[in-house]
Amino acid sequence: MRALVIGLDCVPPVLAFERWAEAMPNLQALRARGRSGPLRSTSPPITVPAWACMTTGRDPGQLGLYGFRNMPPERGYDLRLARSDDVPFKRVWELVGDAGHRVAALFVPPSNPPRPVNGVALGCFLTAPGAPWAFPRALEASLEARFGRFRPDVHDFRGGDEARILNELDAMTAQHFAIARAIQHDERPELMMMVAIGPDRLHHAFWHHLDPESPAYRPGNRWEVEARAYYARLDAEVGRLVRAADDDTLVLVVSDHGARAMQGAVAVNEHLKAHGWQAWRREPAGPTPLRQVVDWSRTRAWAEGGYYARVFVNLEGREPRGIVAPQDYERARAELTALFSSVPGPEGPLPARVDRPEAVYRGTRGEPPDLMVYFDDLTHRAVGTVGHGQVLTAHDDRGVDGCNHAFDGIYVAAGPGVVPGATPADILDVTPTLLAAFGLRRPPGMQGASWLARAP
Ligand SMILES: [Zn+2]
Repeated sequence: MRALVIGLDCVPPVLAFERWAEAMPNLQALRARGRSGPLRSTSPPITVPAWACMTTGRDPGQLGLYGFRNMPPERGYDLRLARSDDVPFKRVWELVGDAGHRVAALFVPPSNPPRPVNGVALGCFLTAPGAPWAFPRALEASLEARFGRFRPDVHDFRGGDEARILNELDAMTAQHFAIARAIQHDERPELMMMVAIGPDRLHHAFWHHLDPESPAYRPGNRWEVEARAYYARLDAEVGRLVRAADDDTLVLVVSDHGARAMQGAVAVNEHLKAHGWQAWRREPAGPTPLRQVVDWSRTRAWAEGGYYARVFVNLEGREPRGIVAPQDYERARAELTALFSSVPGPEGPLPARVDRPEAVYRGTRGEPPDLMVYFDDLTHRAVGTVGHGQVLTAHDDRGVDGCNHAFDGIYVAAGPGVVPGATPADILDVTPTLLAAFGLRRPPGMQGASWLARAP
């Protein structure tokens, strides 16, 4: 095997390198002989697009993927869930496979459905029940015969039922690593990449129990102990995969983003309505999807919630019921930028970063939002539902979840050509590094820099 990439979704440096470092001896052993540090994610730092960017060396604008769900080309007011076919460039295992090497790409988002490869590809957590999840398809039956029914994800991980969530999390994690070991052994891929979604689910279900910066945190609580033990099990799985590879294998352990405590949320459409940008047909009694109450004929802008806010101008000729004239578009964006920079927070305006897609990306493929807003370095989420009765709210609108994403994940690289050290790196460096390990040229438009000392 020439390269092994183990993705740990949502792992922040503060846990893997500091607080719980002692629970992860295999990771620390790789660090000791390699290079490691924080890995800067994409903007936005979300699972989709982050893994797609990492595995193509392209930013979200170049891919046209601005989140899990995206505006379809026919526009409208509803976003559509991303699929593997929405990644418009070859992913690193496709480039390596095209060069004649056998590859395995396991559970790397988005891979619903897995695209054909020179080897094996398995679907990610976005795999719907009954949907294809393996390439070649015949693997589905043989893997399920050995490892049980495929578990793409943990059900309802914001449900608040910790014991049930932890059980499912363990079963899923054990299954995915067992499948990875089997494929590593049986298929002998030269490049294998897998993503463990488990730590992301752990954080979304348990963060309020494990982070001292969370408002609800109680030191030494049972779930904090359980979460640390989960990290130890994860590390043991990493160790088994690494030991099964040859000594001259390039090993990368990478995260798509980090995590941090959520301190509150901004009801973005409430803010727009309060300042005359939206009209509703009625005042909702409780949290309600915007589309159930909005009057598009009197709405000039709307926003989609999530870790960050995506703001869309209701533009005439572009949206089905657009009312903002094209000549007023830039003035609307300027006014909206000022509006989202002045959301009232607990101590004055909440700090916000408001980006124009064309200013932050190398391209703006697809249907980018008109503005992208990050509140207080992601301590605050954006909620898109309405009926909260206030702009600043304490809670998310999706269930028990005290975890917001953060820009810094982790990376550890060890093996041939890696110069040991501790230094920050960028998520777009991963694909150039892997191409260098295989002596392959990078295609035009690819960003990032290889971590290997020798040029291909
Ligand atoms: Zn993620």
